[in-house]
Order: sequence, then C-alpha cells, then structure tokens
Amino acid sequence: MNIHEYQAKAVLRTYGVAVPEGAVAFDPEEAVRVAERFGGKAVVKAQIHAGGRGKAGGVKLAKSLDEVREYARELIGKTLITHQTGPEGKVVKRLLIETLSDIQKEYYLGVVVDRQTGSVVIMASEEGGMEIEEVAAHSPEKIFREVVDPAVGLRPFQARRLAYAIRIPAALINKAAGFMMALYKAFVDMDCSIAEINPLVVTNDGQVMALDAKLNFDSNALYRHKDIVELRDIDEEEPIEIEASKFDLTYIKLNGNIGCMVNGAGLAMATMDTIKHFGGEPANFLDVGGGATEEKVTAAFKIILSDPAVKGILVNIFGGIMKCDVIANGVVAAARQVGLDRPLVVRLEGTNVDLGKQILGQSGLAIVAADSLAQAAQKMVELVK
Ligand code: ADP
Ligand code: MG
Repeated sequence: MNIHEYQAKAVLRTYGVAVPEGAVAFDPEEAVRVAERFGGKAVVKAQIHAGGRGKAGGVKLAKSLDEVREYARELIGKTLITHQTGPEGKVVKRLLIETLSDIQKEYYLGVVVDRQTGSVVIMASEEGGMEIEEVAAHSPEKIFREVVDPAVGLRPFQARRLAYAIRIPAALINKAAGFMMALYKAFVDMDCSIAEINPLVVTNDGQVMALDAKLNFDSNALYRHKDIVELRDIDEEEPIEIEASKFDLTYIKLNGNIGCMVNGAGLAMATMDTIKHFGGEPANFLDVGGGATEEKVTAAFKIILSDPAVKGILVNIFGGIMKCDVIANGVVAAARQVGLDRPLVVRLEGTNVDLGKQILGQSGLAIVAADSLAQAAQKMVELVK
C-alpha cells in the first residue's frame, strides 16, 4: 500500500528523520495559510501516488504568498501526467506546502527488501534527484549498497561507510549516518517494503534532510498498522480494482484487449503467457480464487466487461475443489445476467469436465469451447482480431 508524500514525511518525522516543515492543503486559501507560517516563501507540491512530478510541473517554488496562491490554483484539479502515472495522468486533489530548502547537493537513498540476499538493503548514490533506474543504467558504479543483518540491524559504521561513499561533506557524515539509522528504524518498525528518499539533500546551512519521501507498506503486515490503513487514498487506486477487492477477486488492469478469468495466480500467469505467445494481449490479470462461486464468477464477468478495451473473454478454469459443472453453471448464469456482448471462449479441465462442457453446449449462448489452453488462446486471439 502506498501513501502520499506528506503522510510519509509525517511518519518519518516521528522517527527523527529530518524533513522540511510543512502541511497538506486542499485548496489555495489553505495553502496560503500554511505558507504564512514560514513567511511566504514555500514549495507547492502536487500530492499524487506517482513520482516524476518535478519534471511534469507538479513542484513549484513560490517566492511570495501571492505566488503560493497562484501555483495552488494552477495545480488543484489539474491532471498531472508524469512518466509514472501512465498516459491518462492523475488529478491533483491535495498539495503539500513546505519550506523552501537551500539545496547544496541532492543525493539518493533507498531502503528495500532484497530477494537475492534475503535482507534489507540500503542503496545510496550521489546522483540524486534523477531516477535510480537511470543511474543504474548509465553509471552503476555510483550506486552503493549495504546489506543489513536482520539480527543486529543497521550498524553505525555501515551508515557512515555509505555516507562517505556518496561523498557527503565530511562535517555532515555523522548527521547523514544518523538520518540513515532513523530511516532504517522507521522502515523496519512500520513494515515497509520500500522507503525511498529522492532527493536526500545537504543544505547550505548544514542540514541533511529528505526533500521527497516515498513509503510503500507490506500489505500482509497492515493488520498491525491501523493508523497507516487509515491513510489509504481511494482516489489514487483503479476504481475497478477496488470493486474487485470487495468480492475478494485479485484483479490487475493491463493494456491489452483479451479479458481473462482464471482460478489460481499460477494458472492466470500461464494463461497470460499463452495469450501473448499466440500474439494476443491480456486486458487484465484476474484470479477468482479457489472457491469460484456463481456470485464471484458473475462479479468477475461484470468487472471484465466494464472495461471498454476488452474485446473478448477467455475463461480458463481448473475444477479441483470446485467441480466443472458448478463452474459451467456459474459461467452460463453470469453470461445471461450481464448480457454478454463479446466473444467468450471457455476452457474447463478437471472434475466433472464432461458434464461442464455439456452445460456450456446446451446453454444456447455463443460460447466457444476449447479443449486445451493453447487452443483456447489461439481461438481467442483469432476472435478479437
Ligand atoms: P518528484 O520526485 O515527484 O519529481 P520531488 O519531491 O523529488 O518530486 O521534487 C522534485 C525536485 O524539486 C527535487 O529534486 C528538488 O530539487 C525540488 N524540491 C522539492 N522539494 C523542495 C523543497 N522543499 N525545497 C527546495 N526544493 C525542493
Ligand atoms: Mg523525488
């Protein structure tokens, strides 16, 4: 789960991570009131769950209260398109108004869970402000890593070694190391999966602080962070994905035109691979789960069909715990109820498969039956062409 920058900064502040003074504002007058607290000069920052705002005009440096008002008016309600929002962009509904920092240099600092080492890894670079992927591609030698032993946590010497490696000014090494220690503690305590500070800055008045902050939380641990769950911003999520979560369906929207309804994440991945193999593009990942009831299948159908990009649906279900005849009945009932208007290819396998196929065949609906996944994918790709 993601939260906004201003929320991340508030969480980090409680751990002693240095961040600029500031507050959220939902309209221009509120923005002005916040900026008054620090004498008018302020940074006006669009709050959306995506990075790259600076380049897209979502971060404005205001020199007076009038400029704060002007920028706030411009940004609230604006659709910001950054390289992380996708082409449709995100509508700005909140702003962070914070003090302007006198930046001497920008650095990168990231805390992640690293699968290869099975540990938390801290990454740092003196190439701050730009995408870390870009740095990794062009100057990988400028990214330094410290693997943290989970039993002892981040050691001060590791933090200092990182600070030296990225060439933090000598007088500020201990401050920077302290910053890293605090950030690591926040990461572990809050069950984060990512904590990214880009940029971390050194200022001309000798401060080391986070000008940007991105926190991502492990959803499996959210049950013990009720306060974080409250920060969820539904506006930032795909409406269809929220609808799917109500029915306990795992749904991720993709860019293709073949809607997929599958049970089990592994089978869903295999189905998407097979569609791609035959030249098609999946419109979604959808796992209806092990107990695919008629109600769930109907909800899944509605969700898939609500996407205008979908030109056909491929159902690929293995009847294990759930028998094929039950699934077939569910598919038929759902197709009737939603008024199926696009081609439907169904591949069933497992317990009572013959009975299932018979139900589909006798339904009177234009359902194309397939005997194998390859055949189903090929037929579907043909139909949507
Ligand atoms: P994004 O990563 O979405 O582009 P950032 O928060 O990193 O947004 O802001 C982009 C740039 O704006 C930063 O690299 C920094 O140069 C500048 N900036 C952001 N916040 C401040 C601030 N409080 N004071 C001065 N400059 C800032
Ligand atoms: Mg940034």
